[in-house]
Amino acid sequence: MTSGAIDLGGTKIEARLFDGAMTTVEMRRVPTPVEEFDSFMTALAGQVGWLIERADAPHLPIGIGLPGLIDPDTGLSFASNVPISGRNVRAALAERLGRDFVLGNDCMSFAYSEAHGGAADGEAGVVGLILGTGLGAGFCLDGRVPRRRNGLAVEIGHVGMPARALSRFGLPEWRCGCGKSGCMERYVSGSGLAALAAHRLGRPATALEIVERAGAGEAAAEAVLTLWAELTAECLLTLQLVLDPDCIVLGGGLSKMPDILARLEPPLAGLVLGRTRPPALRLARHGDSSGARGMALLAREAQGGFSNFAGLSEGGSLA
Ligand SMILES: [Zn+2]
Repeated sequence: MTSGAIDLGGTKIEARLFDGAMTTVEMRRVPTPVEEFDSFMTALAGQVGWLIERADAPHLPIGIGLPGLIDPDTGLSFASNVPISGRNVRAALAERLGRDFVLGNDCMSFAYSEAHGGAADGEAGVVGLILGTGLGAGFCLDGRVPRRRNGLAVEIGHVGMPARALSRFGLPEWRCGCGKSGCMERYVSGSGLAALAAHRLGRPATALEIVERAGAGEAAAEAVLTLWAELTAECLLTLQLVLDPDCIVLGGGLSKMPDILARLEPPLAGLVLGRTRPPALRLARHGDSSGARGMALLAREAQGGFSNFAGLSEGGSLA
């Protein structure tokens, strides 16, 4: 069965059409209007319309992956980088296009994708950790996206870095865009790695530059990456302590760093509690299209009268 998905981000709205084997057959990106809701909805509806037209199927299953959260009871969204806060995107889209769509959090759909035909295929407890410009995660339990009270994904990016790690490495509690300070995102994401580099090297450098310079044998850049790996292992430990997953699948730009698993496994093994076994660390099988793939799978299943979203409610979305 052909299916489609929209991956909504702060810079682009990406539409993907998948064939029955879940291979992308067509893809189109447009810039995200970030100023106000109406122009944003026009761009989103345009992308959805394009998918329907390309598939020549008015009832094409289409899943829409959003950043931020969707309240499962009210259907209202909250996101920091797209103008959808306090809005019901599902209802607004249904009003424009005269049919219903499946909506969900993009990190949760990433975990779902990797648990179904991905790097964690068949595993019972799967966390999908996105190491991108920001830091986010989703989880899939027994093959399903569980209900959450507020529709929150795994907001590990805004869990505080343990004080022991900050003091061990002589790092300050950096302010975070969420209003708090010391959040994991400030140290572990791509922008976090760049901040660590600026702090240690005394001048700005992007995450990619640090990775390349370490690869070329520069000791100072290598030390920054080692520090980043120690802090990221603290993030992985927190995920283990809270969710105890069988597997953590890594995605996002930083996950493409060479030897990332070999960098993270030793510090994680050194941090785990007693004799507990750390979760298996794997790289995403479906790369940058994995979140969209997960939304398309969920939309396909919803149209078949079957939902792997727990807690589907009348007015809400399938967060
Ligand atoms: Zn934060």
